[in-house]
Amino acid sequence: MTENLEWLERGAGHIWRPYTQMKTAPAALPVVSASGARLKLADGRELVDGIASWWCVAHGYRHPHIVDAVTRQAAVLPHVMLGGLAHEQAYTLAARLAARLPGDLSRVFFSESGSVAVEIAMKIAVQYHLNAGRRRTRFVSFAGGYHGDTFATMSVCDPEEGMHAMFTGVVPEQIVLPLPRDDDSRSLFSQTLDCHAGDIAAVIVEPYVQGAGGMLFHDGDMLRFLRRETEGRGILLIFDEIFVGFGRLGQTLFACEAASIVPDVVTLSKALTGGTLPLAATVAREPVFEAFLDDDPAKALMHGPTYMGNALACAAANASLDLFESEPRLDEARRIEALMRVNLAPLADEPGVVDVRCRGGIAVVQIDKTISLAGLGARFVDAGVFVRPFRDIVYVTPPLNIPEDDCSRLAEAICAVLPAWLRSARSRTPKNS
Ligand SMILES: *Cc1c(COP(=O)(O)O)cnc(C)c1O
Repeated sequence: MTENLEWLERGAGHIWRPYTQMKTAPAALPVVSASGARLKLADGRELVDGIASWWCVAHGYRHPHIVDAVTRQAAVLPHVMLGGLAHEQAYTLAARLAARLPGDLSRVFFSESGSVAVEIAMKIAVQYHLNAGRRRTRFVSFAGGYHGDTFATMSVCDPEEGMHAMFTGVVPEQIVLPLPRDDDSRSLFSQTLDCHAGDIAAVIVEPYVQGAGGMLFHDGDMLRFLRRETEGRGILLIFDEIFVGFGRLGQTLFACEAASIVPDVVTLSKALTGGTLPLAATVAREPVFEAFLDDDPAKALMHGPTYMGNALACAAANASLDLFESEPRLDEARRIEALMRVNLAPLADEPGVVDVRCRGGIAVVQIDKTISLAGLGARFVDAGVFVRPFRDIVYVTPPLNIPEDDCSRLAEAICAVLPAWLRSARSRTPKNS
């Protein structure tokens, strides 16, 4: 049955879509419902969702345990501000996150989006030093990194991705280095920290996988190197686990556990509510929090998003944590990795494919940079899956509990659609270009 799409036509002239050149972009696909790993379109088609709504939907759409929790909460207390007031869902969630995170990562500040959680981490880092009488205002981040779309978070993104040139003078200038993965980049990193020691508040990194910057993988040794180098100099280390947190890597619930590291601050969002409601958390170690304890009110953290700790969102997050505790999400992420590894392996030999890599619930096919992937998304829709290629990669990050059949369909669609696309791209492109 085809739905009445009057809303689509009426709103299309008014909505401003994300990351979209509105002049040339094809129409967005109208989704009328979703369940498990599938999206149902208005024309009745069902797509297997390879992206899980920007990686948030860890337990599948409309998981009954989360729906129940949100419904019950809505009937009692959908929201109350945290200014001077307390409610059970936020306090319970803070205590549970503190219990699950390693070491003394125990103080949880809630907000409503990942970018804001990173902004708060940055503000905490600067004020942590200020409260101790040190003025340190700069951050070190890494090429290929992504930490959000607001100005402060753009400043610690990859310079190209963060549009530093376009927004010169608006985006603060930070120190963006190559990931210290070999001897040269390691000594550059150490030298830079020495050079600017009195100026650097914190180093920020996405542990193990740089997500929106191109799904680039690195290892735990590098992260332990960052921990050693920052610790010795009194520089804070921020792990942005907004993408990799909550089992996406198939190793541990949080990436810092897999690296056996306790960062000074961790940011969480995306899968925190299982992809149901917006919520984010900035979690600080005890000594970081203690730097804000003083008789002087000016040493308090002056931040407080209106909707922070929203009760519906916290209820969803508590229910999502229940599922991580009661269902085998880490095993499931590893199952995705195993299936994708086997099924995508043949693509590595395709001309135009630069790399095929899988880790936990993330599978990536990287294409030669000169081949445009614009328009490829529509081919995937024709093949019954939702996959959103960007820049030079085709990737999937499905719900961790995606049924095996659906996961196979994602792999089959990529193996069917991509080689044909690459062949026609080569015939479109002259050989010497
Ligand atoms: C998505 C993401 C963010 C930004 O989160 P928003 O909720 O989109 O503001 C920050 N850091 C990482 C690693 C992310 O993947």
